Amino acid sequence: MRAEFAAGDLVAVLTTQPIDRLLDYKAPEGGCSTGDYVQVPLGPRQVLGCVWGAGRGDFDPGKIRPVHAVLDVAPMRAEMRQFLTRVADYTLTPMPAMLRLATRAPGLGDPPSMRKVYRLGQGVPERLTGARSRVLDVLRDHGGLAFTLKELADLAGVSGSVVKGLVALGAVNEEQSPRDMPYPTLDHMRPGKALTESQAAAAAGLCEGVEEGVYGTTLLKGVTGSGKTEVYLEAVARCLAMGRQALVLLPEIALTAEFLARVRDRFGAGPAEWHSGITMTERRRCWKMAGEGGAGLVIGARSALYLPFRDLGLIVVDEEHDQSYKQEDGVVYSARDMAVLRGSLCSAQVVLASATPSLESWANARAGKYQRLDLDARYGAVMPRMRTIDMRAEQTPAGRWISPTLQRAVEARLERGEQALMFLNRRGYAPVTLCRACGHQIGCDHCDARMVEHRFLKRLMCHQCGETKPMPETCPECGAEGRLAPVGPGVERMAEEVAELFPDARVAVLSSDLFASARALKEQILAIAGGAADIIIGTQLVAKGHNFPLLTLVGVIDADLGLHGSDLRAAERTFQLISQVSGRAGRADKPGEALVQSYQPEHPVIGAILSGDQESFLKAEAAEREAAGVPPFGRLAGIVLSSPDMGEVFDFGNELARRDAPLRRIGARLYGPAPAPIARIRGRHRVRLLVKADKGAPIQAAVAEWAGQLKAPANLRIQIDIDPQSFY
Ligand code: ADP
Ligand code: ZN
Repeated sequence: MRAEFAAGDLVAVLTTQPIDRLLDYKAPEGGCSTGDYVQVPLGPRQVLGCVWGAGRGDFDPGKIRPVHAVLDVAPMRAEMRQFLTRVADYTLTPMPAMLRLATRAPGLGDPPSMRKVYRLGQGVPERLTGARSRVLDVLRDHGGLAFTLKELADLAGVSGSVVKGLVALGAVNEEQSPRDMPYPTLDHMRPGKALTESQAAAAAGLCEGVEEGVYGTTLLKGVTGSGKTEVYLEAVARCLAMGRQALVLLPEIALTAEFLARVRDRFGAGPAEWHSGITMTERRRCWKMAGEGGAGLVIGARSALYLPFRDLGLIVVDEEHDQSYKQEDGVVYSARDMAVLRGSLCSAQVVLASATPSLESWANARAGKYQRLDLDARYGAVMPRMRTIDMRAEQTPAGRWISPTLQRAVEARLERGEQALMFLNRRGYAPVTLCRACGHQIGCDHCDARMVEHRFLKRLMCHQCGETKPMPETCPECGAEGRLAPVGPGVERMAEEVAELFPDARVAVLSSDLFASARALKEQILAIAGGAADIIIGTQLVAKGHNFPLLTLVGVIDADLGLHGSDLRAAERTFQLISQVSGRAGRADKPGEALVQSYQPEHPVIGAILSGDQESFLKAEAAEREAAGVPPFGRLAGIVLSSPDMGEVFDFGNELARRDAPLRRIGARLYGPAPAPIARIRGRHRVRLLVKADKGAPIQAAVAEWAGQLKAPANLRIQIDIDPQSFY
């Protein structure tokens, strides 16, 4: 194909470097085209870039340098350039940062390294053992595809030596091949599980859009265990059958183990993976193969959304309500919302799946912007029975958090050999360490936050900055000895209580900070699912989609914990979290029960959770937010200013507030500056401003103009969060 720009032509290049404009270069020998990934000289360095179009020619032509090299990877497609530009505009992110996000794979410019691969040979072994024929079957089934030794051995369920034996006989060929190989083809013709009537109807609803090859978003709302995964895997199968690619986003990589097994079951091979748990080599392979079409299905974390798919036909956002889809630092974006944007740009279907959808998605479905499909019944199981435990009526001993009623319920489950889960959304041993002599609470030196005792680590930890220090013997404030005491429970303290109350039970604590690696966590989850623990104590980590078949009792230790935040989503989140965690009970054949401890069981949110009447809850929430003009019925932008200098950050905030004309022009209101709820993190003082506008108002443009009026002092950082989810 002829290059768009001939050697020596001026081209404009977007680089990954923080420069606020495109740079002109001369097209290299052989030319280049828009979308080509290139290496360009910048000062003394070579940097990654992407050709964005014709050069402007307003630089001194004598100084313009040539593009160093065009990378041997699929060029960025127009759709992707458009997507990055739109995300940049929406989130007020500079384009170089978008390009960095879209090229987060190392060594894209390196020549491909080689590795050994195996494919079908000519020879026929004299003696065909079962193991040998399984290997040959796998190779035949995948029609000419080459595998690594491990892939082939795993798929055939044999050891590597069986494959090597076949190589010696000439039945399998061993070859050198570039490392970044296509992923095994997923067999979309394999039959899925026989779907129930309502599952089949939902699957058909999803497949229709996939077949038409058009954009559309569907809210797939189904109770926990209703088969949402089975249903959207049907849409994946249809998408693969259409020859297009599919992406499934999961909120938690600890969830991938179970999901990978299900994909293998369904399609005979695993998907490509994109998340923090994969090696750098795998990252590059995934990135390249997404671009070349050598990856049919990618599963991953939110940043998989920025992979350069060749032809993306389906995006599933599983557990779409999950807060981890919101990236809070660097490029601040919601992967759920950007998935909808990407889908609309590349004619893909978007599926937002959840048992407890976000109010945003629910409202979009109600307004007719999204299709809505419901699954109301569990597959092969009943929904757990829900009850509150009125803590005011319980004789819970001081320093304990498990009420006598909950204790008896756990005992009953233990006697029957079933599992119980104690849910408390607090990491560590105790949230507060108090000096009983002077009342001092131990805080972080760098943050305006109390330190949390982590007894397993034997240290105090700041959950804002991660700083740890040993537990002091004496009060740092008054010097009193032996008077420091833990106040309140965390999961580690619950473990202590559980060990005292149920001395014979095997106890497992699931909290993100207790696992050195994602793999260790995955293994623990699988072990628990297999029955390795009688009582599980967990933070919100356990609320996320895990399947524990033996689990029949969920005890929510403190349902009141999240109810009174100033956050506009406090009620919504409490509802989601407690419904989700309760939904872990009784997913298999034995019926489950959830016991919810509360000091205010008459609270409307607790009432809504107990009744399971989600629609009424969402309607009431929506009415309240509509009246207040807050999302999804109004728009917000959160601005955090931070600096080591407290005076500077307030001065700057006040000056910005005085110059609010660009905001007033669109009818927006500015609140603040005010000290942020966490007024200091990592030694930086934090000040918040909040812009509130009507739903249709062009908030991004106004905020950009407003914030752009002042040049920030060198040490002052401005972080702008469009559609903020958290307000700390
Ligand atoms: P959800 O994603 O809604 O929580 P899943 O898709 O994980 O639900 O389904 C819950 C369990 O029920 C899984 O173990 C799944 O394999 C099983 N299941 C769901 N639907 C069917 C079906 N039609 N046939 C067989 N098993 C099913
Ligand atoms: Zn800190």
